[in-house]
Amino acid sequence: MLEVQNLSVNYRGILALDNVSLVLEPGELVGLIGPNGAGKSTLIKAMLGLIACRGQVTYGGVPLRRRRRAIAYVPQRSHIDWDYPITAQQVAMLAPSALTGWFRRPGRTAKQQVAVALERVDMLHLAHAPIGELSGGQQQRVFLARALAQNADLFLLDEPFTGIDKKTEALMLAIFAELRAQGKTLVVCSHEWGDALNRYDRLLLLNRHLLANDIPQAVMTFDNIQRAYGQASQSSGSKQTYADFFC
Ligand code: ADP
Ligand code: MG
Repeated sequence: MLEVQNLSVNYRGILALDNVSLVLEPGELVGLIGPNGAGKSTLIKAMLGLIACRGQVTYGGVPLRRRRRAIAYVPQRSHIDWDYPITAQQVAMLAPSALTGWFRRPGRTAKQQVAVALERVDMLHLAHAPIGELSGGQQQRVFLARALAQNADLFLLDEPFTGIDKKTEALMLAIFAELRAQGKTLVVCSHEWGDALNRYDRLLLLNRHLLANDIPQAVMTFDNIQRAYGQASQSSGSKQTYADFFC
């Protein structure tokens, strides 16, 4: 079980998250929704310990940042510098730190695990392609492969459905269903509002505050859309570097 208690994040005087508390259970597919600038990416990064915050995040009673290997993170594509000279396979290979340990060369098991994961997302044939030359959907699938290879318990995916093709969407949905059936917990960010949100077991509606936390039917009300999307928020956020998700 993952528990977030009174989490707040300040970016140089701007309160991006205000006192957010929530609990996630195993086997849940959770949608983290809210407009651009609502603080979704900030919440994910704060949970992972990538940015400074106030409050507590525990996983099975232990601070989450000490259980990083049990957590797979798929960052928002628009936050990544795609000019970095690295192949799809190398990106996916960044995952199995759980298998290889820090700063050790990946062994045969790790390589096999990455190959299986790339095959699962139908990207093995492009394993040696530079990541920057792939389409948005292909890049997203490589990041998903990296998460799968890690064999994590908790998956945090930031806007995985943005800017992808139908094939990638179908593939991701199938994989999410498999992971959920295996008792994994998945948190999927989305800034969109629509019927697709019914696919989640539960929705967390965020706009600086956690405005709602319930089944989709209960969250997707006119009042809530007004409360969350009524006031325009601007999005920004600095580019993430590879170092941000190496750990
Ligand atoms: P979302 O992912 O929901 O679009 P973000 O978490 O990216 O929202 O951003 C939440 C708020 O924090 C926005 O107002 C954004 O401009 C601000 N913000 C995000 N990252 C930074 C940063 N590195 N420095 C300063 N402000 C930031
Ligand atoms: Mg975001």
